Amino acid sequence: MTFDLTPEQDQLRDAVRALGRRYGHGYFVEKAKADEHTTELWAEAGRLGYLGVNIPTEYGGGGGGITELAIVCEELAAAGCPLLLLVVSPAIAATVINRHGTEDQRKRHLPGLADGSQKIVFAITEPEAGSNFHRLGTVARRDADGWLLSGRKCYISGVDEADHVLVVARTEEAGTGKLKPALFLVPTDAAGLTRSKLDMEILSPENQFLLYLDDVRLPADALVGESLDAGLPALFAGLNPERITVAAMGAGTGRYAIERASEYTAARKVWGGRSIGSHQGVSHPLAHAAVQVELARLMIQKAATLYDAGRDLEAGVAGNMAKYAAGEAAALAVDTAVQVLGGAGMTTEYGVATLLGAVRAGRIAPVSREMILNFVAQHVLGQEKSY
Ligand SMILES: Cc1cc2nc3c(=O)[nH]c(=O)nc-3n(C[C@H](O)[C@H](O)[C@H](O)COP(=O)(O)OP(=O)(O)OC[C@H]3O[C@@H](n4cnc5c(N)ncnc54)[C@H](O)[C@@H]3O)c2cc1C
Repeated sequence: MTFDLTPEQDQLRDAVRALGRRYGHGYFVEKAKADEHTTELWAEAGRLGYLGVNIPTEYGGGGGGITELAIVCEELAAAGCPLLLLVVSPAIAATVINRHGTEDQRKRHLPGLADGSQKIVFAITEPEAGSNFHRLGTVARRDADGWLLSGRKCYISGVDEADHVLVVARTEEAGTGKLKPALFLVPTDAAGLTRSKLDMEILSPENQFLLYLDDVRLPADALVGESLDAGLPALFAGLNPERITVAAMGAGTGRYAIERASEYTAARKVWGGRSIGSHQGVSHPLAHAAVQVELARLMIQKAATLYDAGRDLEAGVAGNMAKYAAGEAAALAVDTAVQVLGGAGMTTEYGVATLLGAVRAGRIAPVSREMILNFVAQHVLGQEKSY
């Protein structure tokens, strides 16, 4: 057992940290408030190869795994730039296309995902189905010319920045009427695809959208994979990378908040010569949050290691636990940071309250804490399925 990163991973961590710090939380907030995107940071991260660390070298990537991508997500977040689209585009979309796409789809999309010139977002959530993806209502119908997609999706991140949406639909099998999931690469400018931006209480340069698909016509090769049988495995292929990288983003955000808060409490003096951090009522909550973040980081490392070793089932358990732990730890860390900064905690300048919405959302999305507890109860504790 080793808890050390390889020298290459260490270098990656240092380099991404340096890039993130060059932009910093001020840049992230400024972009969010101006209703702009972190275009410059994304482009630079792409040029430096950080967005494609998990993509095979033959398609222009770094040839690493989810461990490397988790490092990128964590370090950018630890610098105050938690980029949700890292979870969607390189983690989910690139993994799904690499593992289950056709060779033509790999050639068409992976190089652009690797250098950041392409973004592919992911649409599974629907207003009616919610957490229960078995109730998906978006339907794909096959005809002589290809596919027709109809349905609605909600809370879809980054549609305004992406050139494609990876849409999860269900297909009606001729004859049996049986329904099974399938994934489609839908260009964001496809006729029949419209969107409306949701007003979210999250300070973020990345936006969420309602998507309407009204008989969106797609060519036959928009279906991910060689046949409809690729649908279910392709969908599951995206879940572990999603959970692990979103957990890494949470852990990074937690580290960022604790670092800001610790600097402040070590320097701030309101009772004579002693810092407020010398009072255990201030330092203990921070120390407690630091323990929770560090525990989450361990589980992230375990989940990523298992995933990269091809042990998908074990990675599923560890990835869900890591996502749960990091989601809770990030929310605790940011809330604690706000508290120990006092009034400064609520200002934009000190850059911690700016993350409250994002970490709160991290306990709901991309999978809620309750659905993870359902998973653990059923698959780890052997309890009867509760829903
Ligand atoms: C910021 C943000 C970004 C997002 N980005 C994307 C994206 O890019 N693509 C995408 O497809 N989706 C995205 N989502 C959607 C997200 O994945 C869903 O919000 C999430 O899966 C929960 O679904 P829901 O909102 O429909 O909640 P519901 O399913 O309606 O659940 C509501 C509440 O009930 C609980 N609950 C439901 N069922 C059970 C049960 N059986 N047992 C116990 N508790 C239960 C849930 O945990 C939750 O607390 C995003 C959401 C947010 C907030």
